[in-house]
Amino acid sequence: MRAELRLSDLKTRERSTSRLMNVKIPAHVSEAIQKVADDLGASKTEVVVALLNEGLTVSASTLEGLRSARIAVGAGKRLCRVRGCRHPFVAKGYCAAHYQAARRRKSGLSN
Ligand SMILES: [Zn+2]
Repeated sequence: MRAELRLSDLKTRERSTSRLMNVKIPAHVSEAIQKVADDLGASKTEVVVALLNEGLTVSASTLEGLRSARIAVGAGKRLCRVRGCRHPFVAKGYCAAHYQAARRRKSGLSN
């Protein structure tokens, strides 16, 4: 039990609903969690919840970073819509060559 535990901590705890999450974890992870719990004078559950919250914060910012990086890479660099074609967009979603090919198909000319 944490020595600095206050009634307000318990009150905070009561507010959130909790669910049982029965997860099998490697023994060395369990031992590491136990060590952190011992070092902090906290329960294993408190440590697991704290670690999950830390991980969720990191993963949220990592995913946001990946998303904005993808947007930055794609920004102002539209490519031809033909799969595998990496030429720059010119018109109607096509590069110059594919746009011409699409026009030829549309006008009934083969090629
Ligand atoms: Zn193309």
